[in-house]
Amino acid sequence: PWFKYWPSRLPKTLDYPKVPLTDIIETSARRYPDKTAVIYYGNKISYRDLLESIIRFSSFLVNELGVRKGDRIAVFMPNSVQWIIAYFGILRANAILVPINPLIADDELNYILRDSGSIGVVTLSSYLPKVIKAKENTNVKFIIAGKFKDYLPSIPEIRIHPLMQKEPEIEGDVIKWNEAISYKQSPPAIEVTPDDIAVIPYTSGTTGFPKGCIHTHSTIWPTVLGSVIWNMLTPSSIVLTSLPIFHVTGFVHSLNAPLYAGATMVLMSIWDREAAVDAIEKYKVTHWTNIATMVIDLLALPGIEKRNLSSLMLVGGGGAAMPEAVAKKLKELTGLDYIEGYGLTETMSQTHVNPPDRPKPQCLGIPHFGVDALIIDPSTGEVLPPNKEGEIVVRCPSLFKGYWNKEEETRKSFITINGMEYFRTGDLGYMDEEGYFFIVDRIKRMINRAGYKVWPTKVENKLYQHPAVLEACVVATPDPRVGEEVKAYIVLRPEYKGKITPEEIREWCKQHMSAYEYPRIIEFVDSLPKSGSGKILWRVLQEREKVKS
Ligand code: AMP
Repeated sequence: PWFKYWPSRLPKTLDYPKVPLTDIIETSARRYPDKTAVIYYGNKISYRDLLESIIRFSSFLVNELGVRKGDRIAVFMPNSVQWIIAYFGILRANAILVPINPLIADDELNYILRDSGSIGVVTLSSYLPKVIKAKENTNVKFIIAGKFKDYLPSIPEIRIHPLMQKEPEIEGDVIKWNEAISYKQSPPAIEVTPDDIAVIPYTSGTTGFPKGCIHTHSTIWPTVLGSVIWNMLTPSSIVLTSLPIFHVTGFVHSLNAPLYAGATMVLMSIWDREAAVDAIEKYKVTHWTNIATMVIDLLALPGIEKRNLSSLMLVGGGGAAMPEAVAKKLKELTGLDYIEGYGLTETMSQTHVNPPDRPKPQCLGIPHFGVDALIIDPSTGEVLPPNKEGEIVVRCPSLFKGYWNKEEETRKSFITINGMEYFRTGDLGYMDEEGYFFIVDRIKRMINRAGYKVWPTKVENKLYQHPAVLEACVVATPDPRVGEEVKAYIVLRPEYKGKITPEEIREWCKQHMSAYEYPRIIEFVDSLPKSGSGKILWRVLQEREKVKS
């Protein structure tokens, strides 16, 4: 049904390139060698120079460090020029990228390094102590570390975040970035085929353990090409890369798509609304993919009405819902509708996007190129008609090949309908008569804090390690800034009653959990609602939070 509102200027299907992903940068460097690929706080890096660094880095990996086809190498750092070079360099060395959220806690980093069997880590000096600690009992043989400073211009054109100035020295048994990047050798031979694994991004799971999503070169091309075409990216586009590129939305729309289009990326390492507005004005940004919280923050900047945002042609994003009032303010200021999309790490970003010429508010959009999406009854698997709520399931060219080393979890995430395998998203939604999809709730127990996914079971498992905690239940509570805030209901052990405060527990959580996931709100209660069998009824508490709002 959605073809009725398929944008008339777009093809109905796409032919995806059947080459390794490094073709993205090689093709653009051939076509536009002198064009600026990346602007990093004023430092302009051409496509030719970017490719040159990638080739050097890849030959260093192969010739000096003995990296072989299929080896996994983790990249653990915020957005930086090193990230981009490491990503393409790892793939050009026929190896596999494991992108890791730089905000995660030490034990989770250790788990991912172990689970993925990564043999090396590329990082920045501020993150070194964490990496050194987390590499215990893993296969990590080398660490390469750089600094933001390696690529920052002496006089930045836009404001640098204060955190970027406080970089420790690189010490110990670590390879310095400049050593890897000054290595001159002919490029390694390309040994990968499009169906080889390219990237294993991790997503947390209901069980509390992160799962690696296996993506091949072939499962990444569809959303990259889809983004270029849907968003009309051209070599004259200027793309603001403020989303973290370790996560699929940023990886596809703010990194791979602009580089494939031969556009210019304005790369930001740390979100900073003043720097973002300065960048939009200075470089005349045309495309900005983001998460709702960034738009909320940017539009709240005092004096924003007087700033020049007129170069923007497309502002959109996904990963979390966009509040109506914020979309309205964006429209007032820029004349632009917010183009929302929807997808998961398992589908390498978008399975649904709104058509730019006919978007609907608070809507996931219509199924993207080659996507077959259905709404099913989650218990019977029956396909439901329009306007009936059920689980969103998808089949698409960008679908992952399963969870790394987790066959059982992979099997459980698929369902056979009419003889075909569909991926179960765990999201509840419906499709209207025009084929537009909407999300209403989640079956999976997950909290979406500013786009960062928090898994209550994991937070609860950690909370139970605190000596004062007898019982805990973690839920989402609505928050105007981050969408959903993490809240923990706690029953204290009798001996701790009156002797410990919620602030103390909160502080403990801050020390022991990832920065984005620890509960900001702690409420002590006498008991938790339970089922006859003694199971904590988290949904009851969750519903209570919704009602309170
Ligand atoms: P991730 O794997 O981190 O990309 O998380 C995927 C999840 O993010 C989905 O299963 C949804 O629950 C949520 N999500 C993605 N896009 C949207 C959106 N536009 N609105 C609301 N939730 C979204």
